[in-house]
Amino acid sequence: MRFGRRDKKSPSQAVLLLLGSLLLFPIGLHAEEKIPVVVTLPVLKDFTEQVGGPYVEVKSLITGLESEHTYTPKPSDILAVKRADLLVKIGLGLEIWVNSLIKNADRPDLKIVTTSDGVGLIRDHAERNDHDRRDETIDRQHAFKEQHTMGNPHIWLDPENAKIMVRHITEGLIDVDPAHKAEYMRNQSRYIMELESLESELKKQVSQLANRNIVTHHPAWPYYARRFGFVIKGDILTQVGTEPSAKHMGDLIKLMEREKVKVIVSEPQLNPKIPQTLAEETGAAVVVLSPLPGAVPGTETYIDLIRTNTETLIRALEGR
Ligand SMILES: [Zn+2]
Repeated sequence: MRFGRRDKKSPSQAVLLLLGSLLLFPIGLHAEEKIPVVVTLPVLKDFTEQVGGPYVEVKSLITGLESEHTYTPKPSDILAVKRADLLVKIGLGLEIWVNSLIKNADRPDLKIVTTSDGVGLIRDHAERNDHDRRDETIDRQHAFKEQHTMGNPHIWLDPENAKIMVRHITEGLIDVDPAHKAEYMRNQSRYIMELESLESELKKQVSQLANRNIVTHHPAWPYYARRFGFVIKGDILTQVGTEPSAKHMGDLIKLMEREKVKVIVSEPQLNPKIPQTLAEETGAAVVVLSPLPGAVPGTETYIDLIRTNTETLIRALEGR
């Protein structure tokens, strides 16, 4: 509604009209304003939308096609953080690139949710080197060092961890928007039930497999493998952005033969050449699984991502 020069109404009429419209839409105007939320990864966008429903407007800084390890923020990312009420991240040093964004946005009142809080962490390679683990209890200095090393950050690929992360996000949303607490709590319960049925359904399918050994592209999968019962025998890359040495590749080829590894897990965010070379050398099959939603068709949500990844992996391990 405009009160321009062409408006024939007297000032008092205009005021009455304005008051009338305010009385008609006193809450409506406000409720339509969605809570601006910025998240670092697309998986956090899905979690936030599952809980926040129509009350949130979520922007993910990286897309499913970018690597979570090597992202460079854009100027538009600072603007998004500047106008956000809530910022959701994994933590554990994964998004080193987000700290400067938060600093540059200069928003001391910004509510930050670290979804990894309270998640039981896996140290990289801890699962494969059982002897190292035993040494830890003897070698106190080593144990001290381990405690101060952050764990593997790919926590979200275990639905049990996803439940913890969703609870943190729910708390964050209630904090910035207490008016919709009941809705957020209801959405959280519904989503956690969906996660639980997904997990038990897929676990049953995996348990039928005779050989669950895999080699992965980068160490994104230890939480996922532990939850569903896959066995990671080795990683092609120990750090994203580096190339594996010829010795490491030679060792992997020998290990795959010895441990009867028939499947290599490649990722759409990383260079596919090395997994393909390894497959040619060993006769193993390559499957493309994504740690992030949206990179592979049919994986727009977290639940679809976990389902698609698991069904793809099961087919490959069955030799289909
Ligand atoms: Zn990663």
